[in-house]
Amino acid sequence: MANNPNCIFCKIVSGEVPCLKLFEDAQTLAFMDISPVHDGHCLAIPKQHYPTVFTISPRAIAAVAQTTAKVAKAVEQAVKPDGLSIMQANGPGAGQSVGHFHFHILPRRIDDQLLFNWERYQTPGERVRLTELAERIRSFL
Ligand code: 5GP
Ligand code: ZN
Repeated sequence: MANNPNCIFCKIVSGEVPCLKLFEDAQTLAFMDISPVHDGHCLAIPKQHYPTVFTISPRAIAAVAQTTAKVAKAVEQAVKPDGLSIMQANGPGAGQSVGHFHFHILPRRIDDQLLFNWERYQTPGERVRLTELAERIRSFL
């Protein structure tokens, strides 16, 4: 599927919009979420624009799943959370705010009260802190 000129994640893939990149291969990219819920919150995406799980190709979702697992292991070592959720939303009713398929790699803390309501806990990350965490996660990749 072609890239979408109005999509923020496609702009990240093309380099038009900067990101704190963690990992990339031919088909996928992983980078820090700009508004983390917890330290180490990051995203894994296909480089091609697929809006949702309903449209993504089997090959692309398999590739993103592999990148997600790889990065999740690095996040686990880097921030030592109490747990880690992989989350993925499709459509407004599920709280999807960016229409380019993505897996959230979301470190969890015991009693952090996150249900499917975690968007309300997101605050813009401090650049220095995000950069530091990105470096630390990369060191485990
Ligand atoms: P959704 O609500 O679609 O499941 O998640 C979208 C995620 O993308 C949110 O967690 C949001 O913080 C993140 N996000 C939105 N715009 C940007 C951006 O420009 N850069 C980065 N790094 N993350 C973004
Ligand atoms: Zn896109």
